[in-house]
Amino acid sequence: MDFAPSQTQREVEEAVGRICARFGDEYWLARDRDGVFPHEFYGAIAAGGWLGICIPEEYGGSGLGVAEAAVMMRAIAQSGAGMSGASSVHMNIFGLNPVVRFGTAAQKDRMLPPLAAGRVKACFAVTEPNAGLDTGAIETRAEKKDGRYVLNGAKVWTSTAQVADTMLILARTSPRDEGRKHTDGLSLFYTVFDRRFVEVREIEKMGRKAVDSNTLFIDGLDVPEDDRIGAEGQGFEILLHGLNPERILVAAEAVGIGHAALARASAYAKERVVFGRPIGQNQGVQHPLAERWIALEAAALMAANAAWRYDAGLSCGAEANAAKYLASEAAIRACETAMLTLGGYGYAKEYHVERLLREAMITRLAPVTPQLILCHIAERVLGLPKSY
Ligand SMILES: Cc1cc2nc3c(=O)[nH]c(=O)nc-3n(C[C@H](O)[C@H](O)[C@H](O)COP(=O)(O)OP(=O)(O)OC[C@H]3O[C@@H](n4cnc5c(N)ncnc54)[C@H](O)[C@@H]3O)c2cc1C
Repeated sequence: MDFAPSQTQREVEEAVGRICARFGDEYWLARDRDGVFPHEFYGAIAAGGWLGICIPEEYGGSGLGVAEAAVMMRAIAQSGAGMSGASSVHMNIFGLNPVVRFGTAAQKDRMLPPLAAGRVKACFAVTEPNAGLDTGAIETRAEKKDGRYVLNGAKVWTSTAQVADTMLILARTSPRDEGRKHTDGLSLFYTVFDRRFVEVREIEKMGRKAVDSNTLFIDGLDVPEDDRIGAEGQGFEILLHGLNPERILVAAEAVGIGHAALARASAYAKERVVFGRPIGQNQGVQHPLAERWIALEAAALMAANAAWRYDAGLSCGAEANAAKYLASEAAIRACETAMLTLGGYGYAKEYHVERLLREAMITRLAPVTPQLILCHIAERVLGLPKSY
């Protein structure tokens, strides 16, 4: 067992950290205020060649693993960019995994290089208003007509839909009761985001204002058969191959946010003098910070384990879910403790901790909630009856 980061992982961390250092807290606070997508940051990450970190080299990427991508995403979040930075590139990093795994050679040639180069931004349209976490209950239909599909329905929470050029979208191609499982009969498409047939309405939300989330109303979206990824009706199984890497990356991002908050709190605790000494000299201030560090590092180890298993081709559902659970809870507690350490100033925007707390909440809610993770572990690891 070797816990040391590889030479490549150290290089990824340093190189991505150097890019992020050009985008300080003031840049992210400004995006949090104006809600404008961080195009300059996205461009800098693309110019560094980092968007294709997990895309095979023959399609313009670096061909590295999820372990390296996790190092990259933690470095982004930890720089203070938080979820505003991480989510702006997140979809390019893991999103087209189903194409890498199940696409034809022609699809990979057509779809992967533009994404790796940052010429195209993709979004991920799975969640629906009437289905929520019960993906088998989605209602968006894809009807086949003359070798094409016509899509109708609604999606919710689709992030980056305001700026996306393409979308990975899950739709029903045969009715729910016809399949054996309720997730049978779903198909996955990666297609052009044709705004003539998709109305996009932004959801005003608590944090990460610069990376939009939206409700989509899809009315007659025309999709060529060549844009279907894998076999018709197998979309859910295909999508599953992208879900574990996503949980691992969100875990890494949460660890990064937690450490960003702890760094700001520790720096403040050394400087702020009350009752004639730095507040950080009090164990009542030190110990909660130290406990949060321990929890974050435990979560980071679980995420590294899950990433290693995924890259080695081993099952990693339990580990990826556990990492996401541990990391999001640790991140939220770290941000809360950081806010308390700063006292009243923790609530002031200019100290950046309240922004991190608001953004850390996303890692608890998406892409899956703590309750559903516990259901997964109870059923799949402990062998308890399925409860939902
Ligand atoms: C900022 C943000 C960005 C997002 N971006 C995207 C995106 O780009 N693309 C996309 O497709 N989706 C996206 N999502 C959606 C996200 O994945 C969902 O919000 C999440 O999966 C939860 O679904 P829901 O909100 O419909 O909750 P629901 O399914 O309505 O659940 C509500 C609550 O009930 C609990 N619950 C439900 N059933 C059970 C049960 N059987 N036992 C115990 N508890 C249960 C849930 O855990 C949850 O706490 C995003 C969400 C957010 C907040």
